[in-house]
Amino acid sequence: MLRRLSYSVFGIMTVLALASCGTTTRNFVASPEPWRKSAEASCLRAGVVMESPFIAQRSSLSAADDLCGAVHPFQVAAVGGGAVALVPNALVNCQMVPALDQWVDDVVIPAAHAVYGLGVAQMKVLASYSCRPMNNVYGAKLSEHGHANAVDIGAFTLTNGRTITVLTGWNGSDADRRFLHAVHDGACQTFTTVLGPGYNAEHHDHFHVDLMPRHVGHGVCE
Ligand SMILES: [Zn+2]
Repeated sequence: MLRRLSYSVFGIMTVLALASCGTTTRNFVASPEPWRKSAEASCLRAGVVMESPFIAQRSSLSAADDLCGAVHPFQVAAVGGGAVALVPNALVNCQMVPALDQWVDDVVIPAAHAVYGLGVAQMKVLASYSCRPMNNVYGAKLSEHGHANAVDIGAFTLTNGRTITVLTGWNGSDADRRFLHAVHDGACQTFTTVLGPGYNAEHHDHFHVDLMPRHVGHGVCE
């Protein structure tokens, strides 16, 4: 009897240990948001993202009891019609692909031409899909990175090989400041959230852009 009791206690302890293990892996707060899958599905149906030598569809992403992920994410190796490489490649949802193209075509490339008289060869990706809390703060709300709905860009390399980093260029030379501020401010035309060094210390070395749904005129551009 005693042995049977000790076995069952051991069993309960094991279940509790496994359960707590499952919850400790989730370091953010979030609730299910089924509309995200609908938004992604309508983007896919609209056919705005075509596979190409630099855009490849990847298998479904899912983590943290399905609170994170995307159903049909894309691995993007280049934007701007293939002109601007993303290094490393970004893993993003369907909606982010045309948004990145629009930002690069309408803002990043024209700004480089205007300031330096050069094109842009590469953008450095510091983060794309990542199932984690906002600002990496334990217990914060799930980041848009967790939905493959955000990208962090840390640097831009021009076609002459020179690299402008957000870290040193934001308060750097006149030309670098003009370029980076134009790229940051212009991102707000496309993305609903744009955060840079002016927002907080967490963003001192990159621009965060995402497509979190917000009411028109209530985008965050800091
Ligand atoms: Zn970010």
